[in-house]
Amino acid sequence: MEEYEALWAFGIILSFFTIAPPWFHYQKARRLESSFSPPLGGLELPTLTVLLPVRNESILILGKLDEILGADYPMSKISILVVDSGSTDGTAEIARNHLIENARGIEWRVESVDLPGKSIAVNTALDIINTEIFAMLDADAVLQPDALKLLVRWFQDSDIGGVCGRLDASKGAPDFSYRSRFNTLRIGESLMGSTPIFEGSVCAFRMSSIGSAKISPNINADDSQLAMLVRRNGFRAIMDPELRFTEPDSTNRNQRRRSVRRAQGLVRALLANRDLATFKRGQGRIHAHALFFHVMMPWTLLLSFSSLLASFIVDPFPSLGVGAKTHLISVAILLVVILSKTGRGFLRGASVLLESHVLMLLGVRLNVWETDRE
Ligand code: GDP
Ligand code: MN
Repeated sequence: MEEYEALWAFGIILSFFTIAPPWFHYQKARRLESSFSPPLGGLELPTLTVLLPVRNESILILGKLDEILGADYPMSKISILVVDSGSTDGTAEIARNHLIENARGIEWRVESVDLPGKSIAVNTALDIINTEIFAMLDADAVLQPDALKLLVRWFQDSDIGGVCGRLDASKGAPDFSYRSRFNTLRIGESLMGSTPIFEGSVCAFRMSSIGSAKISPNINADDSQLAMLVRRNGFRAIMDPELRFTEPDSTNRNQRRRSVRRAQGLVRALLANRDLATFKRGQGRIHAHALFFHVMMPWTLLLSFSSLLASFIVDPFPSLGVGAKTHLISVAILLVVILSKTGRGFLRGASVLLESHVLMLLGVRLNVWETDRE
């Protein structure tokens, strides 16, 4: 075999093993997603702590509090907990004043934490919450009035430890197709058992599924950390496809930075919980897929494309025959990937992950408290 042929064969085989596992996992998730059926309703609504971790949210906090106060849920059963980490724009005071004026007869509390970081705020909240169920909401998530009801209905099932909503990107948003694939995967994994990747903007947990454990303040992905903790304790963490919410669009530049920051948190959280992965069917395999996709795939993809490229460089014009064919196949693969929407989405995802890995290896941390609100 010529050198360029060896490089080519290596590239082709590696790209197959890069793309096949996520592809099969995705197809399985898609089949399951269509078989979703909601849980039975009609339970007595539990008392609920609504946790709002906030940092410099003076613009959004009023609307968020009003959204909760106007929610379709008996206010006598709601307790609001705002945890502010050193906001410099008066968020805590604004929240306190608003609650004094508008939350008469409702239990509420505004706590301040000195150290920045959402994970630290969440840990502080875990020490304070005294209801069996709590919901956690980001300031910028926009909910339907029945969101809290949809969240808590799942806890009738004693296996369920955590539930999160589904973020619908607007049709024109740059991450629209990424979002729909992400949701399909998370919903499919929820139906297989439990999803390790969570949507912390709108979620709820059963306190007993978290136990006395805490999440790591060094890892940003508080939501996915909690989901993995729930699963570690023998409960399921799921995404509810009916619980739809939206977020205001961010600019393209912010979008990328935010994706990289989230990817970094997620990669750290998945690695810290790598013992949850197994090859056996079922729950362990879901974690293995997540690990493969977020940790290995970006590198194997880069390696396989590089070796296809190298096979060109080593011998750009092989004598007609086999060589011409291998080069033709490489070009065809590249064109399919670049011209198809799915292909481009896959490449973008891999590049975000690669960037987050490289920054991590260089020791650059992207922290949650660097807000990207415009
Ligand atoms: P994203 O949804 O991951 O892009 O992150 P956001 O910037 O929307 O932050 C999610 C929520 O966590 C918002 O309500 C923020 O105000 C809040 N948050 C971010 N950083 C901190 C922090 O250091 N402390 C606290 N208490 N909340 C934070
Ligand atoms: Mn957010």
